Amino acid sequence: MENFKLTRDAILNVLNEISINIPRHTKLKTDRLRHRLERCLDAAQRYGNLFGDENTIIDPSTYPPWTHSQGTVEKDLDRKIWGGIDLGISPGAFSNMCGLVVTLGEQWDRGIREVVLTDQESSAIAVKIHDVYCVEEGRPLLTIGFATIAGTRKMGIKRAIKSFYAAAKQSEAVMIYASPEEQALLFRLFKQNQSHLSPEFAQGISDDRCTASFLLPTSWLAMEDLSRLGKTTGCVACGDPTRYQCERCQSVQYCGKDCQRNHWVDHQHVCRAISSGTWHTVTLDPSPGGKMHSFKYMATINRYDDLGDKPNIDKLHATDQPPPNTYGDKYYLVKLQMPLLGPSTQILTYDKRKSFQLFIRQDLNPDTFSDAAHALGDYPKIYRWAQRVGDWEWKICFDQEPGIVSQW
Ligand SMILES: [Zn+2]
Ligand SMILES: [Zn+2]
Repeated sequence: MENFKLTRDAILNVLNEISINIPRHTKLKTDRLRHRLERCLDAAQRYGNLFGDENTIIDPSTYPPWTHSQGTVEKDLDRKIWGGIDLGISPGAFSNMCGLVVTLGEQWDRGIREVVLTDQESSAIAVKIHDVYCVEEGRPLLTIGFATIAGTRKMGIKRAIKSFYAAAKQSEAVMIYASPEEQALLFRLFKQNQSHLSPEFAQGISDDRCTASFLLPTSWLAMEDLSRLGKTTGCVACGDPTRYQCERCQSVQYCGKDCQRNHWVDHQHVCRAISSGTWHTVTLDPSPGGKMHSFKYMATINRYDDLGDKPNIDKLHATDQPPPNTYGDKYYLVKLQMPLLGPSTQILTYDKRKSFQLFIRQDLNPDTFSDAAHALGDYPKIYRWAQRVGDWEWKICFDQEPGIVSQW
């Protein structure tokens, strides 16, 4: 990998890691993919929510300084409460980058200001942490300076780092491991945030070594942002304009027969369920809970909009607001499960992203409940194909097994 440059594959990996599922063989230009990634990085920091929109230029010094009474910076940078493992997303460069942001906050808490992120083989990013401001309660902003260091054939990376700090008459920085891909992604984040900084503020903290930027708590995308940024159009296999659809199920469009043929491996299972299964329209409800539950209602609508460091109890209550639709009209798997606690008069239903956790309730939908219970049989849980068809309505195919092995 060319130092600090995200390859096309690396960009696609990150986008898929954060559930922006773009076809592997997309014909979208790399610049367009990079632009999509940049918008995702803004969303991962809630930049638009915090400052009005993505084009807002900020001057961090207009915010109050962070004080110790507000707790450690590390703790407030750490937003992984709903993170990778909970979401069933396999960790990759993105979640590691979020971890590195937290690590930088941890260094600040320990009084360390100079950090170098490196794989110790090819490249490094030197980071100088200047100040921490309080953008809002529990949301710190770290102003930083950054510089890239690359090893050459004549001078290995370790010596290059030494000479970088020697030239600045600095004792060396704390060294933290970051793979070349993580460095490239972090570099993208730094550049992205650099573009949000007011020139006056940036000038004040830049020097001939370091470029000014900042960091905010960074984590998985809010469900609203997933719906907004995850939209893909065109051929499901490559993104080109479409000319064919699958004749059997009419649920997917292709640019041509080649893409259709190549995509069949992925498509065959849902195609079979759509064309030969029985589909029920199901209304999903919050659960009335009961004595077994400590909460009045058990409905987790994962809006992901304001991640505190503990789950917001209000989100577990019943709500009039339907869950955000992060799948559009695509088919996806839902998991059906008898609750481990509580009465067996409701079947827990949720998606892999946990954008919602709702119930098929026997009292409200006796017929659907009995079909779903029949499909479950003695299994504690099953996966079935589903499609969102309304605010609280899904179409679910109970009588066809999904055909692919799932575990989440
Ligand atoms: Zn295609
Ligand atoms: Zn089909």
